[in-house]
Order: sequence, then structure tokens, then C-alpha cells
Amino acid sequence: MADEVDFDVAVVGAGPAGSVAATLLARQGASVVLIDRGEAPGTKNLSGGVLYGRVLDEVFPGFVDAAPVERRIVRNVVRFLTPDGAVGVDQVDPRLADPVNAVTVLRAKLDPWLSSQAEEAGAFLMPGVRVDELLIDDRSDGTRQVVGVRAGEDLLRTRVVVAADGVNSFLSQAAGLRTKPPAHHLAVGVKAVVNLPAGVIEDRFGVAPGDGAAHALVGDCTQGVGGGGFLYTNRDSLSIGLVLRLDDLLAQHKDAVTLFETFLEHPAVAGYLRDGELCEYGSHLVNEGGLDMLGRIHTGGLVVVGDAAGLTINSGLTVRGMDLAIGSAICAAEAIGEALSVDDLSERQLGTYRTRLFDSFVGKDMTTYAKAPAFLERPRMYSQYGPLLADILRDVFDLDTRPRRHLLGVARTALKRSPLRVKDLVSDGLAGVRAL
Ligand SMILES: Cc1cc2nc3c(=O)[nH]c(=O)nc-3n(C[C@H](O)[C@H](O)[C@H](O)COP(=O)(O)OP(=O)(O)OC[C@H]3O[C@@H](n4cnc5c(N)ncnc54)[C@H](O)[C@@H]3O)c2cc1C
Repeated sequence: MADEVDFDVAVVGAGPAGSVAATLLARQGASVVLIDRGEAPGTKNLSGGVLYGRVLDEVFPGFVDAAPVERRIVRNVVRFLTPDGAVGVDQVDPRLADPVNAVTVLRAKLDPWLSSQAEEAGAFLMPGVRVDELLIDDRSDGTRQVVGVRAGEDLLRTRVVVAADGVNSFLSQAAGLRTKPPAHHLAVGVKAVVNLPAGVIEDRFGVAPGDGAAHALVGDCTQGVGGGGFLYTNRDSLSIGLVLRLDDLLAQHKDAVTLFETFLEHPAVAGYLRDGELCEYGSHLVNEGGLDMLGRIHTGGLVVVGDAAGLTINSGLTVRGMDLAIGSAICAAEAIGEALSVDDLSERQLGTYRTRLFDSFVGKDMTTYAKAPAFLERPRMYSQYGPLLADILRDVFDLDTRPRRHLLGVARTALKRSPLRVKDLVSDGLAGVRAL
């Protein structure tokens, strides 16, 4: 059977999911073609940029010293923005960097490195090629088997295809595994990269050379639209962006670009960007539906990995997609390797991919955070908690000659001034504990 095909495996998409799947399959001795529509992998890709890297270290031990990573995150800041200020939590902990945990990355640098690792392992990289169609055989027993891909005039016949083609995954739609995601399962990500000298970044964010900070921002940065913002330190630039729920944007007739421009001018943000030079700007869809988005992820001759499978977790504190993409690629490579070895690429045999995924941290974390999307749909999360906290802290720190009150009394008065009621706090608190 192997003689009839051009390659054992075609991996479509050289993002983190595709390049890791191609690397692992090539290491097992399979003949692999890795196809990406970008002139170079990464040219069309956009990510906030915090990669939770321990899973990548399993594939490329010591990758932090070899790959083009930006900074090791040792400082996590979560801030509620009010219209003219912010209230936050600031965690500084060197244990976060050793062993490697989160690092910032720029995809224009990381993706070429990942695809070069796949090439080094023996995969054949085809950049600048867009896959237009899946080749599907309708078998006499009524089953359908994916047997390759068409890119322009070229037909590539394979034993199995890995759909690593990102959030819009037309391959999984063409195979009938999923439909176009509804608006409430998607968010719009808008991101800019702002150049600043490394020393300025270290002073402004209070980090040592090589170390970095990740700020998660909620509240006024989205002006009432569900979502949040991020501000991450690279070596000599900052990644700043918003992730905005698509259904809410549409319902509120707001546009992402205007919200983003206002966000950049927010007093709690603008100071970090001062004198920076905007060098990159783009937008991209983000999966937002959590476990509900994960439908069928394999069929005969096809497995779906990473964003294409709907694997993203937005907990409000962290946006995770790259580590889940890599984790799913590991599970897919194991399942495909086994299927190739027994020469059975049927839907039944490839079903071990789903089992492996749910036995791994990917499926377990998707399940743990299954309630996060519904929790983050509560509109008051974005408009009312920041001002409430700011009011409480103002009474604590704004000292004058009037006698002080205990914190509980201060909080009660602030709550009376806020549209939030005690039952809202209880309901949100319980939902938050269950969801996060
Ligand atoms: C604004 C924003 C912020 C984010 N922040 C973070 C973060 O901080 N941390 C994190 O872990 N995740 C983050 N994510 C999510 C993360 O970027 C994705 O989960 C991750 O990129 C998924 O990797 P992937 O390999 O599955 O898909 P992708 O990285 O999207 O790669 C898909 C690849 O497929 C190629 N392709 C698509 N169609 C075709 C075709 N027909 N033919 C050939 N090639 C094709 C594309 O060119 C691309 O290279 C963020 C996303 C956005 C948009």
C-alpha cells in the first residue's frame, strides 16, 4: 500500500500543531510532507505570545536555549481597568522560570524554527502552497476514506492527512467533521507589536534581562464587550492586544479596531508603550467555545489537531492554544504511528487519537475549564468589578482627617454605590470557583 502513495502523511498547516506532528511522525520513520500556505511558516500567524512551554520541552528538550524565544515569564499581573485607572494583583516568582514554564514568542520567528525541526527530522516542507481540497474515496462498504489532498493542479496521495490548518479549518469542514463555528464560539483577536529598547522594557516592567512579564487585563479595556486584553514583554518589543467575543461585538455594534485604539490610550496602558514604535499589526479569530467546540476530530484517513479541532482555553487569566496544539499533535502522532504500523488508517483505528487526547492534559484541561466560556459571558464581569474594587481601595488609601472605618464597612458602602448586589457576588463567586 505504501508504494501507491506519494507520502505516508500530509500535514496541512505549519503552526505549532502541524510542525510538531510532522516532526514526531518523521522521527518514527514515516514519509511526511508539511504544507503551509505562508511563503514561510509563521508569516500569516498571529498569537498573543505566551507559550506554556513544558509540553514543547518534551518534544525538543532544552528548546528554550535553542529556539527563538523572547523572555521567560517570571511576573504575572492581572488588572481590572476602570475608565481612568486600574486595580490589580502582581505575582513575582522566580520559580516560574525554572524549570521552563511560560516564555514569550513571536510567531514569525518561532514557526520557521519549528518547521525547520520537522525538516531536520526528515519531513519535506512545502511552503507557499495552499491546500484546496481533500481527496476522499467513497468505499464500497459505505465508508469514506481521506486519501490525500489537492493543492492547485497537484494531487498528493497519502495514507493519512493531519488537518493542522487553524481556527477556520476548512479541511475538517470539508470532511464533514464540523460546521462553520457559530459567532458565540469565536472571538476576534487584535494585536500589535511595539518596539522598545530591552533596557526600557526591563525598567518599566520591573524584570531582569531575559525575564519578562505577562499582564492580563479585564474591565474597561473592552468597554463592556466580553473579552480582555494582554500586554506581554518580548526581548525588545511588547505584544499588546485584545480578544473580543464576536457575538458581543456584533450585538453591541462595536468594531474591534476602534476599541483597540482606545485601549492603547488607556492611562493604565499608555505609559508602558510610551515612545514605542508600532511595527506589526494584525487580527485573527480565536476559538472561544471551549469543550463545546470539540466535535469529531477524526475520520478514516484524517485527524484534526490544534485550533482546527477547537482546542483553546480562555480562562480570563490565561489564553492557551499553542500548548494544547502541541499536546494534541503528540497524541495524533502516537495514534497515527500505531495505525501506520498495523496498516489500518480506518476511522475505528484512528479513534485511539481521541482516547489519547482525553487521557492527556489537553482533554483533561478542556474538561476542567468547560464552564469557563459561560462564566466569562456574564456582562458585569467586564464593567462592574473593576470600579467596585477601585472604590474600596480608594477608601483604604485616601487618608484624610476623618476617622477610619474597618474594611468591611468600607466594602459595604462601595457595594451600595455599585450596581452589583450581594447575590451577584455570591453567584459570580460560586460560578468562578466552579469554572476556573
Ligand atoms: C490575539 C491572539 C492571542 C493569542 N494568545 C495566545 C497566547 O498568549 N498563548 C497561547 O498559547 N495561545 C494564544 N492564542 C492562540 C494560539 O495562537 C493558537 O491556539 C495556536 O496558534 C494554534 O496553533 P495551530 O498550529 O493549531 O494553528 P495555527 O497557528 O493557526 O496554524 C495554522 C497553519 O495552517 C496554515 N494553513 C491554514 N489553511 C491552510 C491551507 N488551506 N493550506 C495550507 N496551509 C494552511 C496557516 O498558514 C498556519 O500556518 C492566541 C490567539 C490570538 C489570535
